[in-house]
Amino acid sequence: MRNDQTPTQFLLCPRCGRKTRTLVREDTELTRFPLFCPKCGYACVVAFRQGNLEITEAPDASENF
Ligand SMILES: [Zn+2]
Repeated sequence: MRNDQTPTQFLLCPRCGRKTRTLVREDTELTRFPLFCPKCGYACVVAFRQGNLEITEAPDASENF
């Protein structure tokens, strides 16, 4: 009897498009949230509001792993 709970989703990595381990709800709001992708190692700072993900700070093109 819990079919009406707020849906959740994993944020997708802006670099490789795969799921990160960060779980959000559709009414989640994040500001300057450090997002890390465990799949490709990409890290950036994002904002999440009203279901939309925005990249606030992205590392420059020269990536070091
Ligand atoms: Zn990734």
